[in-house]
Amino acid sequence: MCPSYGGKEQEYVNEAFETNWISPVGPNLQAFEESISSYHGEGYHTAALSSGTAAIHLALILLGVERGDEVICSSFTFAGTCNPIMYLGATPVFIDSEKETWNMDPDALEEAIKDRLAKGKKVKAIIPVHLYGMPANMPEIMKVAREYEIPVIEDAAEALGASLNGQKTGTFGDLAVFSFNGNKIITTSGGGALMSKDKEQIEKSKFLATQARDQAPHYQHSTIGYNYRLSNISAGIGRGQMEVLDERIKQRRAVNSWYKDMFSGNGFDFLTEPEGYFSNYWLTTALLEDTPFDREELRLELEKENIEARPLWKPMHLQPVFEGAPYYGDKTSEYLFEKGVCLPSCSSLDEKEKERIHQTIVRLL
Ligand SMILES: *Cc1c(COP(=O)(O)O)cnc(C)c1O
Repeated sequence: MCPSYGGKEQEYVNEAFETNWISPVGPNLQAFEESISSYHGEGYHTAALSSGTAAIHLALILLGVERGDEVICSSFTFAGTCNPIMYLGATPVFIDSEKETWNMDPDALEEAIKDRLAKGKKVKAIIPVHLYGMPANMPEIMKVAREYEIPVIEDAAEALGASLNGQKTGTFGDLAVFSFNGNKIITTSGGGALMSKDKEQIEKSKFLATQARDQAPHYQHSTIGYNYRLSNISAGIGRGQMEVLDERIKQRRAVNSWYKDMFSGNGFDFLTEPEGYFSNYWLTTALLEDTPFDREELRLELEKENIEARPLWKPMHLQPVFEGAPYYGDKTSEYLFEKGVCLPSCSSLDEKEKERIHQTIVRLL
């Protein structure tokens, strides 16, 4: 966890107090949403929400996901991607990773769709994830999705500012989800967003996120609603953070280059951008295939120095809570989980910390 504040967050938060806009409406909220939309190009609309998980939940509701439906999603991800599928009584169908990006394998995706349709299942949505800031192979994924006319929700919670052939992640699918949780590349201390070119869907998500209150002088409800709106205070932090996003990406990428300069060729196989890909390198990740130590030995050794490293995400198809869910692929993600490590990657990683990390790894080598 390493949120770093450096812009005008404090100023925007103070403004919210001074102007009495501390409820979940107000100028910071609008400005934050506008900054997310315009960062992605023209014609986007954004709803700022209480979390990325809430954004995925609402996206699934907007796409009409109901009890008994199926939703296809990446297996190699954080549980926040697929928990909302369960909230709706639907079934997650897990797709394994491709080796190039570690994200959803388009071939396994097509195999899954064919098989689910042959079994008479209703696949309502596909959720590819851009893990650790690396874009998924969206051109191929969208080709398959369009062929079978299944809408796509991009989970860009970890990939704000990443792009593929110059096109930003979050602009390939029908709906995009971002997270501003404390551990993400920028943060509102806790928050998320749903973005789309479909203005009506985004308006509807704001309606659902504020308890689905009908237009009436009293409180009138004809739909089930949620309390998922971001507050104007948090949006003030987000507004300031958006102004430093590109700077944070530069810092994360510099950390990534530092690791590669130091340890490439020492048995570290770093996740690296294929041609045309631009990762925000939210976290620097590597497979330890030819090192004299495994990922757990490295983690424990860094822990002694009070430096936190972690295994990669444990695939969802291996999680006890999703036991029995359909799964397609060749177990690439199981290998990634076994061999992979997230190295300390804060934007604020300083020279002293780098030196300690360097010393520790050199000692192990
Ligand atoms: C963080 C994250 C989420 C959930 O976002 P929250 O804001 O923590 O609810 C979803 N998917 C991925 C891949 C994430 O990393």
